[in-house]
Amino acid sequence: MSAPWPPSGRIELPDTDEPYWAPEETMDPEQRRGVVFDKLREQVRYCWERSPFYRELWSDAGVFPETLRTLDDLRHFPFVKKEQIRADQVAHPPFGSNICCPPEAIAHIHGTSGTTGRPTAFAISRDDWLRIAAAHARIMWSFGIRRTDTVFIGSFFSLYLGSWGALIGTEALGARAFPFGAGVPGQTERALEYIDLIRPTAFYGTPSYALHLAKVATKHGVDPKDFGFKIMFFSGEPGAGIPATKKRIEDVFGAICIDSGSMAEMTPWMTNSECSHRTGMHLWEDLVYTEIVDRETGEPVEGDGEGVPVYTHLERTSQPMIRLYSGDLTRVASDPCPCGRTYRRLPDGIYGRVDDMLIIRGVNVYPNAVENALASVPGVGSEYRIVIERPGELDVFRLEIESTEASVADAVRDRVKAAAGVGPDVVVHPPDTLETTEFKSRRVDDRRNAVASTPTH
Ligand SMILES: [Zn+2]
Repeated sequence: MSAPWPPSGRIELPDTDEPYWAPEETMDPEQRRGVVFDKLREQVRYCWERSPFYRELWSDAGVFPETLRTLDDLRHFPFVKKEQIRADQVAHPPFGSNICCPPEAIAHIHGTSGTTGRPTAFAISRDDWLRIAAAHARIMWSFGIRRTDTVFIGSFFSLYLGSWGALIGTEALGARAFPFGAGVPGQTERALEYIDLIRPTAFYGTPSYALHLAKVATKHGVDPKDFGFKIMFFSGEPGAGIPATKKRIEDVFGAICIDSGSMAEMTPWMTNSECSHRTGMHLWEDLVYTEIVDRETGEPVEGDGEGVPVYTHLERTSQPMIRLYSGDLTRVASDPCPCGRTYRRLPDGIYGRVDDMLIIRGVNVYPNAVENALASVPGVGSEYRIVIERPGELDVFRLEIESTEASVADAVRDRVKAAAGVGPDVVVHPPDTLETTEFKSRRVDDRRNAVASTPTH
């Protein structure tokens, strides 16, 4: 007999020295597929009964809840893309026709933080909020957060779901939350004083912000290692999964650096997350079921290999996503992790997007590969810009970096050329001259189609 659906979101905390929170974590993968299928069947039926969005989408594709006889049958269901969600919200404001709960059940409204285009609104019910908190607590446990920890949350408390997800996971786990926030002028200097006073043991934010904090600390004569962080976990940017950036964060702070995060729409977004062994993000597939599909054919990749994550909620009652196409690129592996969890992993993190690959002089270049090469050169700052222009026939690839030593340019060019296949012209700026951000950095400036891509609004 399968468990009641949806699960209650009630928390039963393991003993402090217990490594696992739930039996699904170490289950034989075949057996766990049974657990996933039981939840999926309920989730799909629930969406069919309550959401005109899914009824229409699935009817058009000739699929119905009865189509789902095994977990593999999910591949017959169409992808959902972000553009469809956005268009549906325009047609059915404010939350779209995939909202499955009554308006009075909505407890939190969040949204996309992008600066262009119509925003997408996320409505999360009270019960879903509790389930998200429980899922995040369980995952935070795997990277070592315990009740005795104090978690410094150094990111915006706004529509951005990252900070809230970290906050409610911390609360549900019974640890101490220190929701410091970010973005107010002078706040990072203030953070130095507060961290010294409160002595948090864990940090959440974006990799850019952590490195910015380290830079400000150093400028004030404070060694970031003296903060005393033991665990630093990240989302919002790929950096924590880029090996050289991860190493830099771990070296600078003397803490472990945990990569996590799927998509805001998929909250609980921590269901891609590393454990304390940092062998790549585990796919916590009994919470959110993740397929990796071939970028050309859209068919699920059998076994290990490269592809695009496609996410499906398994316990969401307000705005469920069934086969949300992420557009991200990753590689999945199923060899064992020393933690003993049997979840597959993404050993190279999310290393690109299907649509952010740059073609420079005919070579496919992923910005993350450039960052990894750059971060492996000693003496180079963490901020950089990739600028691509086409003044004549040929692409000009310029990489702007920060360093006190102009002589690093050759090493940077060689490493980037080896990693990406194209050597950039390297421009070395003095430290702290490139614009930094306390949130997600924009580091690619492709000026080749500047006229055609000018925003029209
Ligand atoms: Zn592990």
